[in-house]
Amino acid sequence: MRILVVEDQPRLSEQLADALADAGYAVDRAVDGKRADFLVETERYDAVLLDLGLPKIDGLTLLRKWRENGHTVPVLVLTARGSWHEKVQGIDSGADDYVAKPFRMEELLARLRALIRRGQQPLVAERVSVGGLTLDTRSHRAWIDEREVVLTAKEYALLEFLARRPGAVVSRADIAEHVWDEHYDPLSNVVDVYIQRLRRKLDRTGEASIIRTRRGEGYQLSMGGGVS
Ligand code: CA
Repeated sequence: MRILVVEDQPRLSEQLADALADAGYAVDRAVDGKRADFLVETERYDAVLLDLGLPKIDGLTLLRKWRENGHTVPVLVLTARGSWHEKVQGIDSGADDYVAKPFRMEELLARLRALIRRGQQPLVAERVSVGGLTLDTRSHRAWIDEREVVLTAKEYALLEFLARRPGAVVSRADIAEHVWDEHYDPLSNVVDVYIQRLRRKLDRTGEASIIRTRRGEGYQLSMGGGVS
């Protein structure tokens, strides 16, 4: 379990890091908002302890930004004692829980354990990129050359299935099994119909389709770049 401690008071930061390390966590520390933002955007944490009053970027601004960017990492906010409006703002901004300063380390650790238990799921939105295609597997959005493409749920599911197997030839049967439910009729041409819809939405004018047909075998998502 890896925890990010965001706290600008050196003594408190160190106490937190020591207590967490003693409890068996891997700990990274940030002493200002900018560093914290960089770490959350580039690393994977199981939880973040977040002080609100921080140099460079304050805690509430950070939290809102992370939630807007789809980060679901559990965040435990450290608030000033008795500051109810900080608690309210923290919760409104996407905090999962808060602890008022000064706190007992045992309480903080207990709340952290509870947060991590609740947050056992993919922690950050996962991006899948193939050629000029990018998928956000959490929000189910898709972009081609940074232009967003609006897809139905089924179109998205089919595209993600292909994008997770870039360059591989995927049979209609494979697609049907993973993207359609048990009511799929193997004699229908529904897979082909959806492939055509995706091509209409994704393909670049005057260029080969990003979804290739392999006659008698199935479909293949182009990796982009050269011709094959
Ligand atoms: Ca502070």
